[in-house]
Amino acid sequence: MSGSGFKPFMRMTGHEFKEGYDKAILAVGSTEYHGEHLPYGTDTLVSEHIAMEVAKRVKGLLMLPPIPFGMSAHYSNFPIAISLSTETLMRVLREVFDSLRKHGLNRLIIVNGHDGNIPAIEAATNEYRAEHPEFKMTVLSAWWVTAGQLVPEGTFEVWDGLGHGGEGETSMMLRVDSSLVDMGKARGVVPDLPKHVDWKWTFDEITPYGVTGDPTKATPEKGAAMNDALVKLLVDLVKELDEKDWKT
Ligand SMILES: [Zn+2]
Repeated sequence: MSGSGFKPFMRMTGHEFKEGYDKAILAVGSTEYHGEHLPYGTDTLVSEHIAMEVAKRVKGLLMLPPIPFGMSAHYSNFPIAISLSTETLMRVLREVFDSLRKHGLNRLIIVNGHDGNIPAIEAATNEYRAEHPEFKMTVLSAWWVTAGQLVPEGTFEVWDGLGHGGEGETSMMLRVDSSLVDMGKARGVVPDLPKHVDWKWTFDEITPYGVTGDPTKATPEKGAAMNDALVKLLVDLVKELDEKDWKT
């Protein structure tokens, strides 16, 4: 299931699927403005890329088609975001879980690509697990935070690499597909937000560029470091979970 033999589910025939999959990986993205320099699908493309890289390396892991829309209400004052409500996204997730469970695919890894999806994923997975204890799930909720914890200190120059379309995300997009990034148009701002609380903004209130953080500091090397650390984390995690039969 590695190297040239790999196929995502969307490209697989029924015969190929019968070769045996006991777990699945699902990327959840968004379609929204990511500044003048990044594509609208950035959150979907990055989370799909991470999930795909993991699926290529783990036997029996089915790479599901990514969910391309997320909860983007707080970003939607920039043109344009295709946004689902949290309720709708929760329902989509639950029905994906139901569909997998119906055919005995009871092990799922979720790779989230967008901050607005976190509440829906959190609530849907917690509720679903309580109702269906046999359905095991693990979630990478915020790769942009986790990657910052995994890469060597000093990798990022501004705001720990954070931000929507910022240093980290732009670096990842350079790693995923640099032909979709226009670094000449990269501009961002680090917002001055209150500490220790979750200040509720709409994105236009905190940046005129539709970007936070500093995308001008992005490099493909930083993106490769983030990507490699995240892929290794998830590959090692799935191997560990398999050894324990997904019991903790
Ligand atoms: Zn993003």
